[in-house]
Amino acid sequence: CFMSVEGFDKNIWVEFTQLISDYKVVNLGQGFPDFGPPSFMQEAYCNAICGGASMHQYTRAFGYPRLVKIIAKFFGRIMGREIDPMEEVLITVGAYHALFCTFQALVDEGDEVIIVEPFFDCYEPMVMMAGGTPVYIPLKPKEVTGSALSSADWLLCPEEVASKFNPRTKAIVINTPNNPLGKVFQRDELQMIADLCIKHDVLCISDEVYEWLTYDGEHHIKIASLPGMWERTVTIGSAGKSFCATGWKVGWAMCSGHILKHLKTFHQNSVYHCPTAPQEAVAVGFQREYDVFGTEESYFRQLPAQLHAKRLKLAKSLRSVGLQPILPQGGYFMTTDISSLSEYTKDEPYDYRFVKWLIKEKGLAAIPVSGFYSPEHRADFQNYIRFCFVKEDSTLEAAEDILRQWN
Ligand code: PMP
Ligand code: GLN
Repeated sequence: CFMSVEGFDKNIWVEFTQLISDYKVVNLGQGFPDFGPPSFMQEAYCNAICGGASMHQYTRAFGYPRLVKIIAKFFGRIMGREIDPMEEVLITVGAYHALFCTFQALVDEGDEVIIVEPFFDCYEPMVMMAGGTPVYIPLKPKEVTGSALSSADWLLCPEEVASKFNPRTKAIVINTPNNPLGKVFQRDELQMIADLCIKHDVLCISDEVYEWLTYDGEHHIKIASLPGMWERTVTIGSAGKSFCATGWKVGWAMCSGHILKHLKTFHQNSVYHCPTAPQEAVAVGFQREYDVFGTEESYFRQLPAQLHAKRLKLAKSLRSVGLQPILPQGGYFMTTDISSLSEYTKDEPYDYRFVKWLIKEKGLAAIPVSGFYSPEHRADFQNYIRFCFVKEDSTLEAAEDILRQWN
């Protein structure tokens, strides 16, 4: 009997990456850069690979020592606290694995976990596979007239958030900057969530894989840095997203040792070791970023500047064909309303049908946004699709050509 995984087999990435690979498309679908990491990272990786026998053997299972030390030092400086590299940082196989260890470790049968919608899709099955029940709280667009749409217009209703907390609530999951909308949570929004977590003794799982990618003067704030939150927050990050090296699959979870020790149990009984050489390369990258932090030389400053231009380029293309993109404050993605465009087939949510048609008939790949909603709210959000703009300018131009030849 396979009851424990029944119903979890359907997955938007499995479905759409297969479809995308079956057709010749301009791919603005799955979120990854179609360019490489910066040259200092490529060099660091090559040096690691050529760096002697130890780079090709197991390393410390909970994280390569040089990497956990620099991550603790790097984020310790940002957060203004001492972080213990051995007890408070865990290296994982991408942020995905950090999320998996977190949900497995912290969620028990009967626990409720509040998830802010739209959400990175894996939160839902991961909570349920740990025996928990997801409870959804949607970001809702406020009425805007006259100005361009922005992810900043999507808000939580504080009373509605408060109403979701009860004695069964174990944790709340937030993702800032958010995938797919690109919302960057503001200090007052994070404080509202933090106050509820403290009041109800609830944990916070904060997925911050796009932490460096904020635009137009927006600033990423770590909820773990708010008073009283370090002790109850698991912060998750990704070297793949930080350094444009998604294939390296290096991620981390960072939190107080009394929580992290439980994540370690799932880590040691799942993958145990993560690959050594990419961890060495990421450690070199973080050391460099530590040294140049806040200067023009910092990649964490250069990358968002580069993506800012790409984001405007894609927004312009979409507007030129009459679409109304939601300008993201952060992250990799731009969501746009497609309700003005015609329908294709009838047996699935509109955005799923639309993206399949877009891939097959137009040769352009995107991702349907209703896949980032719970079953109960999916129908309300099937008029949006998501484009990734972390692509070469030539790719974005090829997408624009397709859009312009629309009719
Ligand atoms: N969280 C979010 C919000 C994501 O978009 C992704 C995809 N990068 C992940 C986690 C997983 O990251 P990784 O590739 O490091 O496993
Ligand atoms: N986070 C990326 C996205 O949202 C990649 C998803 C994945 O690897 N499954 O497109």
